[in-house]
Amino acid sequence: MKIKVREISSSGLLFEESVNPRDIGLLEDFINDEVPLTVTGRFERVGDFILAKVDVVYGVENHCARCLERVSGQEKKSFDLDFEAKAGVEYIDVGERVREEVIIGYVPRVLCKEDCKGICPGCGADLNTESCECEKKH
Ligand SMILES: [Zn+2]
Ligand SMILES: [Zn+2]
Repeated sequence: MKIKVREISSSGLLFEESVNPRDIGLLEDFINDEVPLTVTGRFERVGDFILAKVDVVYGVENHCARCLERVSGQEKKSFDLDFEAKAGVEYIDVGERVREEVIIGYVPRVLCKEDCKGICPGCGADLNTESCECEKKH
């Protein structure tokens, strides 16, 4: 996911590209690589810098922090990126920067639903669908 610096004119460049997240090195467990990652944004030249405001949409998958059920969904994040574009720099690597931002922005704790009841530490029952057997034994 590279952009040729000379294609970014003074009026800016609109950019849109979808890739497999693995193609930009996103190999993390929380990334759902069955869903393409899409970057859209506007790139502008300001002196020796290229400034961009991008939106990134990608699939995530996780396990509920309470009941361990698989949770998948879509994340949309917006980032401001800046690249140095000194003389001789032909390309900027958007994918590398998007990868960093996605990893930095990752919030690990996920619930399958707000009021997930979780798993009983005593009997291991999924309290969303089963009833706890612990108390009956006493
Ligand atoms: Zn849950
Ligand atoms: Zn129990």
